[in-house]
Amino acid sequence: MSLRKPGRHFFANPGPTNIPDSVLRAMNRPSMDFMDADFIEVFDEARAGLKSLLFTEHEVFISAASGHGAWESAMVNLFSPGDEVLIIGGGFFSVTWAALARSFGIIVELFEVDWRHGVEIASLQARLAADHGQRVKAICIVHNESLTSLVTPIPEVRAALDQAGHPALLLVDTISSLGCFEFRMDEWGVDAVVGGSQKGLMLPTGLGFVAAGPRALAAHKTATLPRFYFDWTAMMERRFRSFTGTVPIMPFFGMVEALSLLKAEGFEAVWARHHRLAQAVRAAVRAWGSGNQGPELYNLNPARYSDSVTTVLVPDGIDADAFRKLLLDRFNVSIGGGLAPLIGKVFRIGHMGDLNEPMILGTLAAIELAFGVFGMPHTPGGVAAAIESLKA
Ligand SMILES: *Cc1c(COP(=O)(O)O)cnc(C)c1O
Repeated sequence: MSLRKPGRHFFANPGPTNIPDSVLRAMNRPSMDFMDADFIEVFDEARAGLKSLLFTEHEVFISAASGHGAWESAMVNLFSPGDEVLIIGGGFFSVTWAALARSFGIIVELFEVDWRHGVEIASLQARLAADHGQRVKAICIVHNESLTSLVTPIPEVRAALDQAGHPALLLVDTISSLGCFEFRMDEWGVDAVVGGSQKGLMLPTGLGFVAAGPRALAAHKTATLPRFYFDWTAMMERRFRSFTGTVPIMPFFGMVEALSLLKAEGFEAVWARHHRLAQAVRAAVRAWGSGNQGPELYNLNPARYSDSVTTVLVPDGIDADAFRKLLLDRFNVSIGGGLAPLIGKVFRIGHMGDLNEPMILGTLAAIELAFGVFGMPHTPGGVAAAIESLKA
């Protein structure tokens, strides 16, 4: 079997994402000492750029880790065994975050919500108001639930906390939203942010980071969970204010380039582009499902649509993964699959990172073509609907 398929591999996964050629070239370089003055300059520029993308003036701790590592860094640095946290549900990533926290002895209440509608802020506010002893130390939210394509409005959660007069820390996972749509750490009153390199940042997997504001740093001082690799106190004593051990240099050359691409386009323009492309994808899915039995948008709440990923529910009895396999094998197009409990029931079109209209239209056209070959019940015309949406 030959590994190479002719033409471009179309990659529309909700992470990892396409890496721009100039970012790949920036990382293609020989090794150097991480204490070399030239590297330190690059590192400082990358860290400052990351802070500007997070819209924060505060501390950012970077580790050689996937997003899971960043989650772990946040939890072990902020909490003690027996602390109670409220994790807002809405998809698989909050479930995993809850499992990770529990494994460290944190008491987690997973605030379960309808995965197709997202959290009701009023019920969250009622839950907070009922916490008379203010035992909840933190509220953890996955900004963009990458499995269900649900977005939670962070300023509304902040307002709910403020109205309830609740002192809980506000923690946000921005792994699949940062660099895709609006997020403002300081202005929105977020205490700690978890992020990763391989989604909106258009970099390879491998850098996980946590931004921490003053309230988070204060909580860190008294938190007693065991930690070593992710210990922020130790990190603050290092020149890099990050890392334990050797600093991986290559990704930082990539990060400087990726951030300069985002800056040159303009953060607002980057968000607007994601919104435009996301609307086109949703228009296509709506057209495909406009008969009685076609694929449909999994997220039923337009106020919570994601501009970085679209989860598509396939009709009952159809194996979404068999469809994805055909799309990849025959047309060299990779899209995301479901995760438990949605395995085989959904596919996910990632539209985060380095994408433009032709790439989205190519992906949608290949999906519509593959629907025909596969025998997916659908109404043709998704691509035409996407084109109409993009013209507007
Ligand atoms: C991808 C993702 C994660 C996990 O990141 P890894 O790098 O795979 O460990 C966590 N949260 C969200 C919202 C994600 O999309």
